[in-house]
Amino acid sequence: MSVYQQQNLQQQTLQQKTLQQKILHQRTLGIIGGMSWESTQSYYRLINQGVKEKLGGHHSADLLIHSVDFALINELQEQGEWDELGVIMASSGTRLQAAGVQGLLIATNTMHKVVDKVQAATGLPIIHIAEVTAQAINKQGLKTIALLGTQFTMTEDFYKQRLINAGLQVLVPDTIMQKEIHRIINEELCLGKFQDSSRQYYVDVIKQLAAQGAEGVILGCTEIGLLISQDDSPIPVFDTTAIHAAAAVEFLVGDR
Ligand code: GLU
Repeated sequence: MSVYQQQNLQQQTLQQKTLQQKILHQRTLGIIGGMSWESTQSYYRLINQGVKEKLGGHHSADLLIHSVDFALINELQEQGEWDELGVIMASSGTRLQAAGVQGLLIATNTMHKVVDKVQAATGLPIIHIAEVTAQAINKQGLKTIALLGTQFTMTEDFYKQRLINAGLQVLVPDTIMQKEIHRIINEELCLGKFQDSSRQYYVDVIKQLAAQGAEGVILGCTEIGLLISQDDSPIPVFDTTAIHAAAAVEFLVGDR
């Protein structure tokens, strides 16, 4: 073998090693998705883009997605059957665990209402959407933040308290606006309908909350980012889908 061939072989072996190290370095993440599948698509795209940015080339995310039938979830939410929803989410988590994931992500804000059930059933690390969102806001140094999401997310403690614990002051729209925001999520966004009139409604709500002192707004429902972008808002938007997906990338390929 010539010196040139030897050098070539050494270089190839080195490249293969680096590739193997990168692949070995990646963890496997389980996504409990389908709530709705409109936003699970965004997660899938954003996480893969993030991994590709970090590792380059043909790299993509090592994911297992359990996509549930949202009709049942939606109905049980409206009926207030949270125990049943906890059982369904925990079962999804254990199925992903049995398939070999090392961590979990629940790809929706609202279903974090039962995150403890998933945690208790699996004992796996779970990337909490409100916690990573609060971290992103704190990084920007904002203190007072508006929260838009389903009525469960806007009104109940399971979500807001995590933000408050992180030192944030949380503003939510009044009851009438909450109802309309929830209706748009449920009857339009989760069904893939994106209307200018609804976008305008959200923008008006954001403007009102900004006038009340909100320095930024949490798009606290994983479909809102499909309707509203930073360009539509007078204050910084914190898109929970994008923030959650970025945390997933960190989990998969970040330094440890
Ligand atoms: N994807 C929505 C969220 O982030 C939830 C839709 C729903 O569960 O009603 O909260």
